[in-house]
Amino acid sequence: MHWLFGDQLGPHFLRPSEDSGLAGDTPLLMIEARSVFRRRRFHRAKAHLVLSAMRHRAAELGDRVTYVRSDTYREGLARAAGGRPLTVHHPTSYAALRLVRSLPHVTTGPARGFLVPMDAFSAWADGQGGRSVRQENFYRWVRRGHAFLMDGDQPAGGRWNLDHDNRQPPPRDATTLPVDRPYRPREDDIDEQVRHDLDRWEKDGDVSFVGRDGPRLFPATRAEARAALRRFVERRLTAFGPYEDAMLAADPVMSHSLLSSSLNLGLLDPAECVERAEAAWREGRAPLNSVEGFVRQIAGWREYVWQLYWYFGEDYRTSNVLRHTAPLPDWWNDLAADDVDARCLHTVLSQVRDTGWTHHIPRLMILGSYALQRGWDPAAVTDWFHRCFVDGYDWVMVPNVVGMSQYADGGRMTTKPYTSGGAYVNRMSDLCGSCVYRPADRTGAHACPYTAGYWAFLDRHRSALEHNHRMTRAVRGLDRLADLADVRRQERARGDSPP
Ligand code: FAD
Repeated sequence: MHWLFGDQLGPHFLRPSEDSGLAGDTPLLMIEARSVFRRRRFHRAKAHLVLSAMRHRAAELGDRVTYVRSDTYREGLARAAGGRPLTVHHPTSYAALRLVRSLPHVTTGPARGFLVPMDAFSAWADGQGGRSVRQENFYRWVRRGHAFLMDGDQPAGGRWNLDHDNRQPPPRDATTLPVDRPYRPREDDIDEQVRHDLDRWEKDGDVSFVGRDGPRLFPATRAEARAALRRFVERRLTAFGPYEDAMLAADPVMSHSLLSSSLNLGLLDPAECVERAEAAWREGRAPLNSVEGFVRQIAGWREYVWQLYWYFGEDYRTSNVLRHTAPLPDWWNDLAADDVDARCLHTVLSQVRDTGWTHHIPRLMILGSYALQRGWDPAAVTDWFHRCFVDGYDWVMVPNVVGMSQYADGGRMTTKPYTSGGAYVNRMSDLCGSCVYRPADRTGAHACPYTAGYWAFLDRHRSALEHNHRMTRAVRGLDRLADLADVRRQERARGDSPP
């Protein structure tokens, strides 16, 4: 019998192979453990999506699968398999790996759903000598190894990185991007049953959720995920590159693919996403800067984050070099967007509350940056992202939040902390226009919380950051601030109240 976790749902998890012990007719086991939802206060749309996807998969697999609803994984296993031998693909978290390794009758095979075997990554990373293991180097290595967007041994179009054609501010005066809408699925009886179960669990006081569970917005089946990929590549990919870092208040989705939840549930394989995008470019249906930007996200960032999660080891999650210990305030934990006046944070927090998703720049430069500036505990911030996002899983949250967003690893993953004042937000979005705060104001009634927070952050961590050559100029900027004492006072007074 072979055990499939809830994020191993696509056909590539059933391909027979010797190292997995899977044959074409191996009976399958899936376990829906309610304790998972009791451990953390998840966004309800996320709980809905995961349960819907698992139940849809079980319905497709029919008699081949034993689907167990239990309190814990151990109880489900005991009920369905007894002591019978089981195989399983390498799970996606340390906790799940510990569990499967503690069970004497379970054999763990290699991971699936990623591009590079873990031992190949370790060998590559170890071989980088004194150089740190940077995403750009890794990405080029993956492109070469998989012949993604390559012409012989050269990058297609002659350049590895087309970032300078991308990262533009939103088009002037536009409130939405002129691209087709993304694919959205239609709910069915399984969704209705899931919603009914979640209502019941909440009513019983068994579990508690955060956020709204409106109509399901993300794919729960392979067919839906393929339709979403097709729609993105055929009708939305062209605009992906130029505006991938821009934000528009009325257009949360812009030209992003919305494929992360499908990839992370295992409904899509990363290689098929890259190959489809590359084919669109080779057939003249999408420009190279957009295609390269998208390939970089999947074959570069996503894969890099997965590999670092394992390569850095389990202790990485508790990194906290800036010694940030403040707890998350209740308004943040409750996604109480209506308590927030700052228009950018209000907008983004509303998106998270209503959909469990927002794109990477709001995650990094609005949500993560706010937490970093206020000195919130990076482990608590990681847990918050994990719970509140439809695509959040331990492996993807830990490096993205601890490393990328909170700089808690002191630069093992990124070369500098990602945070900014309101000027960046103003340049890259239309979020500041009618805000009660002014991006240029550091102090006073209209002081932008990001601008004041930025200087207060640099001030607090001056000694840790001034030797980082990418931060030296910014830190020296503190010396030009005649009102630094006022900024400090004002930030202390703000405390953890909503801005
Ligand atoms: P697109 O912008 O269309 O990008 C295409 C794909 O690239 C995504 O679907 C995703 O699979 C992949 N990708 C791009 N960047 C990353 C990255 N840094 N890490 C992993 N995959 C990446 N992504 C998650 O899948 N789950 C998370 O829990 C998650 N948490 C994040 C937390 C923070 C603080 C930050 C800064 C980023 C996080 N990301 C996470 C990465 C990224 O924000 C999302 O993958 C992306 O916004 C999902 O939307 P999309 O599918 O439209 O992505």
